[in-house]
Amino acid sequence: MKYSFWFVVGSQFLYGPEVLDTVAQRAEEMAAKLSQVLPYPLTYKVTAKTNKEIADVIKEANYDDSCAGIITWCHTFSPSKMWINGFVNLQKPYCHLATQYNKEIPNEEIDMDFMNLNQAAHGDREHGFIAARLRMPRKVVAGYWQDAKVQKRLGDWMKAAVGVAVSKSMKVMRFGDNMREVAVTEGDKVEVQAKLGWQVNTWPVGKLVDTMNAVTEAEVDEMMARYTSLYDMATDDIETVRYQAREEVAIKKMMDAEGCKAFSNTFQDLYGMKQLPGIASQDLMAQGYGYGGEGDWKVSAMTAIMKAMGEGGNGASAFMEDYTYHLVEGQEYSLGAHMLEVCPSLAAAKPRIEVHPLGIGDREDPARLVFEGKEGDAIVASLIDMGGRLRLIVQDIHCVKPIMPMPNLPVARVMWQAMPNLTDGVECWITAGGAHHSVLSYDVTAEQMRDWARMMDIEFVHITKDTTQEALEKELFLNDLAWKLKA
Ligand code: MN
Repeated sequence: MKYSFWFVVGSQFLYGPEVLDTVAQRAEEMAAKLSQVLPYPLTYKVTAKTNKEIADVIKEANYDDSCAGIITWCHTFSPSKMWINGFVNLQKPYCHLATQYNKEIPNEEIDMDFMNLNQAAHGDREHGFIAARLRMPRKVVAGYWQDAKVQKRLGDWMKAAVGVAVSKSMKVMRFGDNMREVAVTEGDKVEVQAKLGWQVNTWPVGKLVDTMNAVTEAEVDEMMARYTSLYDMATDDIETVRYQAREEVAIKKMMDAEGCKAFSNTFQDLYGMKQLPGIASQDLMAQGYGYGGEGDWKVSAMTAIMKAMGEGGNGASAFMEDYTYHLVEGQEYSLGAHMLEVCPSLAAAKPRIEVHPLGIGDREDPARLVFEGKEGDAIVASLIDMGGRLRLIVQDIHCVKPIMPMPNLPVARVMWQAMPNLTDGVECWITAGGAHHSVLSYDVTAEQMRDWARMMDIEFVHITKDTTQEALEKELFLNDLAWKLKA
């Protein structure tokens, strides 16, 4: 889907046709110039003066799948009662761009004509009131439209809004159920579909095995060529790698046939399969598919959504699992990995294809990609079902080059410092109920996840360098009350 955003300008008849013509021209110019720097095109639609014009453009936006959101601008005063009938029906993400055409107040030129044409400061407040009054989820971005910082924030919001569109069309293919007895990977799929749009359904592992058996040697060869072009073959056990290639071709065929962008499986349900998919799952993630281990369909869909939100970045959003800590004072790190399935988009250098035994799952030694994660600021995000509502927990982290080589660890690994520090960060994460599975992203920011959560109407909890346990506890308590009142 090629997404675009619509630029809707608020005005009224009061200032005469000349002003309206000028505004329409300027709005067109702004949309064209912004389209050159924003990640998605911004299309000027209308300078609206009546209730009907606004209701009509919103109806059209709702109906058009390629419209990922609307951005409004009030060049001057646009009485907001005329926005009510449209706004109550708006089903698309909405950003209020509080800007003006001119950057400076022109000392000589300014007179009452200039004031009539350029009173966004006035119009924005009327426009902001009605959205507040209607309790509309929205993003407010203020500043000069040609400033790089404003354009960056607008672009980031657009990506979050695309995350909404991707979420609403998300289909997850589940092979097997959740890992036995695990709580946090469970969730209300009916509620999730109503709220986030996800279609989460199961397909038999037997069907996957049939599809694997029908994969041709030529298809396996083609996948192997991809593997050797992207990764270093650090094993002589080519047959084992070929088996993974066969698995990948089959999983991809089944997902593509159903339009699924994410999948989950579990090592407890691999009947008829010789290996747990390792490189097969890793390489699918590298292509933008979401994945969750142990039947975790929530983290799988979130991975696919955050990968789509990060488009144009470095593509580094991945399924992650907290494993173990380094608790030496002054050197406090978390080590994240998974039994196999870490996305190579996180890799600092070319991943190696290796074959090692897997202690659990009772299958043959699987091939997997082994690498170190790269350095940089990132986030981890976890979506949990609180019973009656969803909570999205995001924590700021800083990834480092792993401080030791760990030569006997046969999986990809990422090492990071959690905010505000390891122990407070862990206490906060655990207090909030964050899962051991998360999406780690170098691409998507916490602000984008906050925007996404607001647009999806779910709870958002952010653990930052400034978070204290005490403040967080209070926030969670108040959130719990607020969400019960809201429901
Ligand atoms: Mn896991």
